[in-house]
Amino acid sequence: MYYNDNTIIFLDGSWLKAAEATTDLFAQTLHYGNGVFEGIRSYKTEDGVRIFKAKEHYERLLMSAELMHIKVDYTVEQLIQLTEDLLAKNNLEDAYIRPLIYLGANMSLQPVDEVHVMITAWEWGRYLGSDLLNLMTSSYQRPNPKSCHIEAKVVGHYTNSILATTEAKSKGFDEALLLDQFGFVAEGPGANFFYEKAGVIYTPAPGYILNGITRQTVFELAKEMGLELKEAQIKIEDVYGADGAFFTGTAAEIAGIGSLDGKSFTKPWKETLGYELSLAYKRRVSQNEFRDFALV
Ligand code: PMP
Repeated sequence: MYYNDNTIIFLDGSWLKAAEATTDLFAQTLHYGNGVFEGIRSYKTEDGVRIFKAKEHYERLLMSAELMHIKVDYTVEQLIQLTEDLLAKNNLEDAYIRPLIYLGANMSLQPVDEVHVMITAWEWGRYLGSDLLNLMTSSYQRPNPKSCHIEAKVVGHYTNSILATTEAKSKGFDEALLLDQFGFVAEGPGANFFYEKAGVIYTPAPGYILNGITRQTVFELAKEMGLELKEAQIKIEDVYGADGAFFTGTAAEIAGIGSLDGKSFTKPWKETLGYELSLAYKRRVSQNEFRDFALV
């Protein structure tokens, strides 16, 4: 799924075949999870292939690296150029792009000087389905932000996400919703959470979440569309019986949620503000929103 015999990746200044790339089994990233990464998407638009919010993603990657004491010798501009070259070399248009910064052999618990930069990408078609997600409140909490840099996209953090998703799926749900240590709603294993009640959209404030780039795009869109969107401390009971809810993330974009812990949201998805935002988001990523507006 991720690569075939022809896939070219970028690794430490070279272009090479994914199938021929190797790594060190003694890498600190493999043993202790100290590495950082990004998930970015490119879209085929009428103006060519566009990487959505490339600058924001690479700024976050470099911020994540800095927080984990990883020295990266590339600028945001260089990483964007490399990504454009990567897409061209692999003939990719609608794609998911995965940069990973990982460390060399080291079994100590200290920063490592040997830093590797890998960028790969694979095809990621437009998802047009409208299956709503059924969530369960996870028994796993989001990590305490005093135990790690929760705002950074660190490899090791995703063990928490894997546990939460695995638990949800094993119980017959599609995905998990995680609370913070005080019992307030935080986020999904790989997505930010929003819900709608009486015409207002609410989302957890930063603190226990990764402040997603899609989340920030939803703030921009809501402002432009004149929608009321508030950051709040949210209790799970506030969410039960709300009008609608959705997850946001680069991969899933804006995904409607049908129920939480078996309690359905009251409005049909297509009548919610989340649905309107999901359409606006699709227009934003393909940069043809003004053309669409001209047609209606
Ligand atoms: N929270 C977590 C824990 C995530 O892994 C992601 C995916 N990067 C998100 C939220 C959404 O972030 P973004 O919109 O930047 O993809």
